[in-house]
Amino acid sequence: MELIRIPRIMQDTCRKHLQKGRSIGVVPTMGALHEGHLSLIKRSRAENDVTAVSIFVNPTQFGPAEDLGRYPRDIEGDSKKIRELEADILFLPDDRIMYPPGFTTFIDVEKISGKLCGEFRPGHFKGVATVVSKLLNIVRPTRAYFGQKDFQQSVVIRRLVKDLNFDAEVVICPTIREHDGLAMSSRNAYLNPEQRHAATALFRCLTAASQAILAGMHYPAAVREMMHAVLSREPLITAIEYADVYDPETLEAIDEIKGEVLLAVAARLGSTRLIDNMLLNT
Ligand code: AMP
Repeated sequence: MELIRIPRIMQDTCRKHLQKGRSIGVVPTMGALHEGHLSLIKRSRAENDVTAVSIFVNPTQFGPAEDLGRYPRDIEGDSKKIRELEADILFLPDDRIMYPPGFTTFIDVEKISGKLCGEFRPGHFKGVATVVSKLLNIVRPTRAYFGQKDFQQSVVIRRLVKDLNFDAEVVICPTIREHDGLAMSSRNAYLNPEQRHAATALFRCLTAASQAILAGMHYPAAVREMMHAVLSREPLITAIEYADVYDPETLEAIDEIKGEVLLAVAARLGSTRLIDNMLLNT
């Protein structure tokens, strides 16, 4: 595994692979790797000649009151996992090289960035869209791998790639869960044992809603009420940011449950914010 910290060197290395006719898969991450991240790396390994994993805790996607400072970091453990999966390149830039003094160019994927999480994390998707654009320009990957866990992020990135003519295929991989259904997330490390137990309410609320819809509940308002009821029963959930049924393309709340729908939830357990979602064919 090659370790590269400098964008220019990363660009040259990737270009050489492409010139030799090799396909490149890129897996962008913020590190503290878990099985969710590893599933993306495995998929890229299976589908490409060269796999590049990036680890960069991107400051521009964190709000001023968010957890940038305490975001879990474990470069040594991460490198070991990436090496074990036989990925080819670890791209590990730092803040100064990604955002040098004078940096002023940002990508804003309008409308969809303001829905769901965007309402509670203003500027978050602008930071995501900007750093993903930079990575796509640095690597020029054949394919770029993201998780369904961050559903809105996948919608924003698909839009961005289409709108700005990036020549990469966006591959969205299924959410990997703990044995009790909790979606794996680097932020789960913030939870104390009681909160960790309570956090399963997100998955339970999605499961209850999907079962109700499949059993014939066709009023979005009723589904929403049910999702809120499941979450409200859990005293360690301190805030429900959203829990509802949406159009998976526009991320708008819907007034009729028909075709493919998105069940999505964001809730807080103390200072920890968790999200989860499920796609459902009705
Ligand atoms: P992050 O390090 O949180 O920015 O995540 C990096 C990538 O891994 C993103 O595309 C996430 O959607 C994806 N990811 C995070 N958690 C999971 C999970 N539980 N299952 C599948 N993919 C995930």
